Amino acid sequence: MTAQIIDGKEFSARVRAQVGEHVTRLKNDHGITPGLAVVLVGEDPASQVYVRSKGKMTVEVGMKSVERRMDADTSEADLLAVIEELNNDPEIHGILCQLPLPDHLNEDLIINSISPAKDVDGFHISNVGLLGTGQKSMVPCTPLGCLMMLRDHHGSISGMDAVVIGRSNIVGKPMAQLLLNDSATVTIAHSRTKDLAEVVRRADIVVAAVGRPEMVPGDWIKEGATVIDVGINRLDAPEKGLKEDGTVKTKLVGDVHFESCAARAGAITPVPGGVGPMTIACLLANTVTACCRANGLAEPE
Ligand code: NDP
Repeated sequence: MTAQIIDGKEFSARVRAQVGEHVTRLKNDHGITPGLAVVLVGEDPASQVYVRSKGKMTVEVGMKSVERRMDADTSEADLLAVIEELNNDPEIHGILCQLPLPDHLNEDLIINSISPAKDVDGFHISNVGLLGTGQKSMVPCTPLGCLMMLRDHHGSISGMDAVVIGRSNIVGKPMAQLLLNDSATVTIAHSRTKDLAEVVRRADIVVAAVGRPEMVPGDWIKEGATVIDVGINRLDAPEKGLKEDGTVKTKLVGDVHFESCAARAGAITPVPGGVGPMTIACLLANTVTACCRANGLAEPE
């Protein structure tokens, strides 16, 4: 079998176009422009790239984009003050504090200081609890993007066996919760799981969120299963030659071994071009949702 490639780039473009249409309606019919604020503490190069592209796409869909850049040695009090200011700003509907934060800052404390209604990352303890009890919440963007791709591909995932590899608070756990809320039968695997290969072989749906390059080989995949690869791992790629500064060029790979998994799966997301683009699209969608809720308006589907 050769798997169908689930094109996250194309899908995310569709989602962003829908978000853009909703933003236009909010502006024209209600005079409201949704606003997203991203707070970045420090100079982490990967975070800088994410924040830049988030800002660019926010503007592209017609929303207001605010970036608050703070020094790596920013105090907790100063960061909390910025978040408080954004919590109270009526033109800001979504607030995202880019992770990871420098070590001296308490990540839980900072995340829980964001107003739950503006917590477009869905990491606030209130939103985690709401999701866990199947209530209306802000849903973390990466798992939401994965769920949208699964629903788009399968229609319904009710009754399917799903295995999520990874149990982080930002990907694995909320992913498992979303699959459960959609009535899949869910197994969460992690570094202590015994015989991971056998666990994965049972799955109709495999979501890999581990952070280990190409860890899942094709022979773990049940024939025809759907594979969602969340992993983003940068590896040296000497075959691509050298960069201008003389260092070896790099490439991105996922947590699954693409070629061998694609040979057995029914459908698979590539890296890059799979889950990654969906994450930002879902962030924009969450901001529109937050804006609609704040103004008592109908939410996008
Ligand atoms: P974490 O490091 O927080 O979690 C990794 C999880 O994988 C842990 O639960 C860990 O288990 C588990 N794990 C580690 N080694 C093994 C193993 N050998 N077998 C089984 N499970 C294992 O990572 P994140 O959840 O934050 O991210 C996972 C991946 O997803 C990363 O590559 C990250 O870059 C990517 N990512 C991609 C995003 C996107 O937009 N596409 C967004 C966010 C993340 P244990 O708990 O026992 O330690």
